[in-house]
Amino acid sequence: MEDVILVVNCGSSSLKLALFSRNLERLAGGLAERLGEDGATASAGDDQISLTGKSSHEDALAELLSHFRENELLSDQPLAIGHRVVHGGEAFRAPALINDDVLVAIEDCSSLAPLHNPVNLTGIRATLKLFPDVPQVAVFDTAFHQTLPPHAYLYGLPRRFYEDWGVRRYGFHGTSHSFMVEQAARLLAKPRSETSIISAHLGNGCSITAINNGESLDTSMGLTPLEGLVMGTRCGDVDPGLFDFLSAKGIDSESLSRILNRESGLLGLSESTNDMRTLIEQADGGDEQSSQALAVFCFRLARYIGAMMASLDELDALVFTGGIGENSDRVRKDTVSHLNLMGFSLDSKANENHGQESDHRIESKTSRFPILVIPTNEEAVIAREAAARAG
Ligand code: AMP
Repeated sequence: MEDVILVVNCGSSSLKLALFSRNLERLAGGLAERLGEDGATASAGDDQISLTGKSSHEDALAELLSHFRENELLSDQPLAIGHRVVHGGEAFRAPALINDDVLVAIEDCSSLAPLHNPVNLTGIRATLKLFPDVPQVAVFDTAFHQTLPPHAYLYGLPRRFYEDWGVRRYGFHGTSHSFMVEQAARLLAKPRSETSIISAHLGNGCSITAINNGESLDTSMGLTPLEGLVMGTRCGDVDPGLFDFLSAKGIDSESLSRILNRESGLLGLSESTNDMRTLIEQADGGDEQSSQALAVFCFRLARYIGAMMASLDELDALVFTGGIGENSDRVRKDTVSHLNLMGFSLDSKANENHGQESDHRIESKTSRFPILVIPTNEEAVIAREAAARAG
């Protein structure tokens, strides 16, 4: 049995685990859902793992680890453990080896991500209890964006909100965006520190980042992961005047938060699905609301690509990633169709093949800039950071 690195991603009612070898080959994964509710479930590959009643994150962790042990994927303990932590506030510019000070700092960021950081801490505390001697590393979604300059991270709000409460733009999906510039640099044969890209991470959550000479200078998500692009169930940018308007209609703040986070975006517009693949099938079948939802998604994305150009000295590539960015030629085509004036254009064959037969490149010969499709791999990056910092 070889040494493995364990990656832990704790969501509010879910737990994802992955095991990687020392050379970052993914060996196994496990997923538990509906934790804390009746009917919690867990699986690892094709195997269903029984959870009873209202299983907690700790219960699911123990069950999945014992499944890995039974299948001889894990010996005594892992070599290192990497945790995805959503919010590192202004305290973390890089992954951190977990100690008491780091735990306190993550806790201090909880008011900025009340749905995420407390549950990330639950995962960390559970693995600390099980493996007190194994080095554990926190990898933050926000850390890569700590290079944003003040003109990109300050809102046009009273300054005291920032100074007293940390109200500013933080940005998320940093692990994926950072991986994109690393991969783009490799493909374009340039040093990372001289590579400038616009990185569009399009999954259930969506964000776009301007990366100038390897550093994040602007990004579409803000104080929370609600700002910016239209997403599966999240609204992205709306007029802040909406909150007063809806409050006058009797929608309280708890309902509003639920609506903006869980009932908006593609789901809200189509009134049927948050899944892009299903949405496109419905649009192709003549469903008008699905067509409009797709059009809003692509237009908002194109507007943001334009906006991101303001941060860059030059552009080496526009990069698409995430479940939608990697797999939907339709979304890429409809988005780039808005960008002719800026000189972007696609090669339709390469786009349909998702760049798989053209070294990830999908731009036409006349395009002013390269356009790349690059698969993201956040878990592998977390595993690598854990192994590197654990020594
Ligand atoms: P992620 O959160 O990165 O796993 O991405 C999930 C999103 O990717 C969902 O909206 C899926 O419908 C979408 N997706 C996956 N495969 C395709 C595909 N072939 N075409 C369009 N969307 C896809």
